[in-house]
Amino acid sequence: MYKLIDGKKISQEIKDELKEKAAAMKREGKARALAVIQVGDDPASSVYVGNKKKACDYVGIESQTYKLKEETTQEELLELVEKLNADDAVGGILVQLPLPSHINEYKVLTAISPDKDVDGFHPVNVGNLSIGRPGFVSCTPAGVIQLLKRSGIEIEGKECVIIGRSNIVGKPMAMLLLRENATVTVCHSKTKNLKEIAKRADILVAAVGRPKFVTADFVKEGAVVIDVGINRDQNNKLCGDVDFDSVAEHTSAITPVPGGVGPMTVAMLMYNCVEGFCI
Ligand code: NAD
Repeated sequence: MYKLIDGKKISQEIKDELKEKAAAMKREGKARALAVIQVGDDPASSVYVGNKKKACDYVGIESQTYKLKEETTQEELLELVEKLNADDAVGGILVQLPLPSHINEYKVLTAISPDKDVDGFHPVNVGNLSIGRPGFVSCTPAGVIQLLKRSGIEIEGKECVIIGRSNIVGKPMAMLLLRENATVTVCHSKTKNLKEIAKRADILVAAVGRPKFVTADFVKEGAVVIDVGINRDQNNKLCGDVDFDSVAEHTSAITPVPGGVGPMTVAMLMYNCVEGFCI
């Protein structure tokens, strides 16, 4: 019988812990706001921005939402980022992705001060993660580590395979698992013998972006399977990168979609805000 890793419950625990710390910081006059910038009105982005505001309200972090018009120029956006960089009342700055195509995402993300980069996307923070120095860490992979630790799953010495090498999930996931002393393999779209490699994993992390891509023949009996994917199946139903129904019975523990990694991303953003404010 497998254990269902409950991301909803674990993310709630984290937010409750942070609530106390945020209240103490407020009392000591150390609290600073999270500024969230959205350009355009992509409905999915609006939902994500709304969820972040809700989480801030719950934890007790002041949030500022900047909703800019789709036609906003790169210069105008960079000006706002600079203004927020210089504002001592703001401790974290987040630019909701994707940005409209006339704006260079890299230019904007690297304009955010690394000290306020609560998404952990700035090259300085990515570099710090690589060399084992403190800094902000990308929220989704940080959430996966918390899911494993808080579910009592040992990482040290384990064979971990990640499918996906994106800058936001796959690569920082590899760095974080290395930091926990795992043996890490990163697979991607050009990997040969993907199933054989995946089958070596004690912990298999799927971050592919393809509905139900990981089937039972990818999974070693008793492995732990973490599903980062958020996709829609042919019936427009939310599903992960893992074919849960065929895979679950072969695992010792698995995350569902929804209710697994998803809620952890916002919880870890809150963590970055509260912990970052303490530096
Ligand atoms: P991405 O598209 O940037 O990267 C996908 C990766 O999968 C690439 O590195 C690619 O090489 C690899 N890949 C694609 N096809 C493959 C194949 N056939 N075999 C092996 N590897 C293959 O995606 P991403 O941003 O890393 O996101 C991955 C998934 O995670 C998506 O479903 C996304 O929606 C989801 N996601 C969820 C959260 C969350 O909060 N839970 C956060 C970020 C992303």
